Amino acid sequence: MFIIDFDDTLFDTHAFKKILPDLEKDLYKESDKVKNLLFSDAVSFLEFLKQTNQPLILLSLGENNFQKTKINITGVDKFFDSVHITADSKELALSVILNDFKNEEDVWFINDKIEETKQVMAGFPQLKPILKISPRFTEDEYRLSLIPYFSTLTQIQQYVQEQIK
Ligand SMILES: [Mg+2]
Repeated sequence: MFIIDFDDTLFDTHAFKKILPDLEKDLYKESDKVKNLLFSDAVSFLEFLKQTNQPLILLSLGENNFQKTKINITGVDKFFDSVHITADSKELALSVILNDFKNEEDVWFINDKIEETKQVMAGFPQLKPILKISPRFTEDEYRLSLIPYFSTLTQIQQYVQEQIK
């Protein structure tokens, strides 16, 4: 099973905030621009994961309506078996998700935030984390996390492909 973050993992949130500073208003007005802020390899990455026949879960932190609208504009929701949006912490949502999928052998957790991923790992040590580099942190910080990290989703795809064969 794959549990995947949205902001700065599948979607270029960094650019989104720069191009569309009035987030709430621009989200509805500029849906074409928002659509184009998915990382260019996001769809092929999700198609690859879909082909593994494992459940795909989107887990996003933020305000429910805003996140849902943003996710739906990009159209990636169709790849996921379920979409979880949580306003407080990912841990609570994860315990719900893991309870729904008790028999999954490997649970991959793909995220960009280092500390959040470490916290989640402390609560759920069975997870297999992968970090996607976001401009929010330096590469040194990723290296020091000792968690596998990559700059692109294509590289993550190659890594997963190696690991699951
Ligand atoms: Mg993120």
